[in-house]
Amino acid sequence: MTTDQQRELSTLPKAELHLHLEGAMRRTTLVELCNKYEIPIPIDTAGRRFDDFSAFVDVYIAACECIREVSDIKRLFQEVAEDVKLSGAVWIEIAPSFSFYSHRFGGHFECLRLLADAAEEAERSTGVGIGIVVSVERHLGVEEAEKLAHIAKRGAESLKICGRPAILGLGLHGPEEGNSPSQFKEAFDIACCSKSTMVSLPHAGEIAPYPGGGAKSAIDAVQILKAKRIAHDSRGFKHLLGCLRFFQLFVERSTNGRKPPPREIARKGYTLHHQLRRSSIIWVFFAI
Ligand SMILES: [Zn+2]
Repeated sequence: MTTDQQRELSTLPKAELHLHLEGAMRRTTLVELCNKYEIPIPIDTAGRRFDDFSAFVDVYIAACECIREVSDIKRLFQEVAEDVKLSGAVWIEIAPSFSFYSHRFGGHFECLRLLADAAEEAERSTGVGIGIVVSVERHLGVEEAEKLAHIAKRGAESLKICGRPAILGLGLHGPEEGNSPSQFKEAFDIACCSKSTMVSLPHAGEIAPYPGGGAKSAIDAVQILKAKRIAHDSRGFKHLLGCLRFFQLFVERSTNGRKPPPREIARKGYTLHHQLRRSSIIWVFFAI
């Protein structure tokens, strides 16, 4: 690439394909909400390395505890969309851990409806296209996973963000040890069946290898859960680079270098989602 072809990375259009909503909460917002609801303020995670996964989860759950009113959900989506826009993102796929707070908002489906409404508001305000990935929390068990899968499917059929289906896929979060992908096969079959528009987007291979874990977990996610993308696996970064490169080409080639208006970008982001949905993981690697 010659010098005049080089551009600032921050100015390139990007797609953030795996963003944890509550984990992206601004520290200032977290502190403000903790004070408002009289919740102990968790440690500042900036620059911190955790000794184990459970210590990280404790901080994450503290952020979920701060989501108590509809205005908190709206504020969170708005601020996350503003923050990713500063990094050049034009399309984000958000994975909320709403199982931790949906009971405050009338249950899973009503909470999903609020999340979709907040996403639409943030998209209209910032121009950043948004989709939602409903995620099973492994530690809540198989029965809860299958219940959530049915709700997610219902959401995919009825909830919209700016006219597009709001729910893009089913994810799988939480501690892997003792919670293998195979246990959640039925939940993924329910949500991501051939008639569904949802795709399988689980975490796998996230934690250092243990018996039955590590690479085995990622392989099982592909073979048993029919994963189209793996989150946090050892090859995740390479996968992400492939997606970014693809999206950059996708936007530029279809607009002759002109920056498309926000609604057009969101439409292209959703088209990207479908391109990846039809592709295999191997195909994405080849796109690098
Ligand atoms: Zn993740």
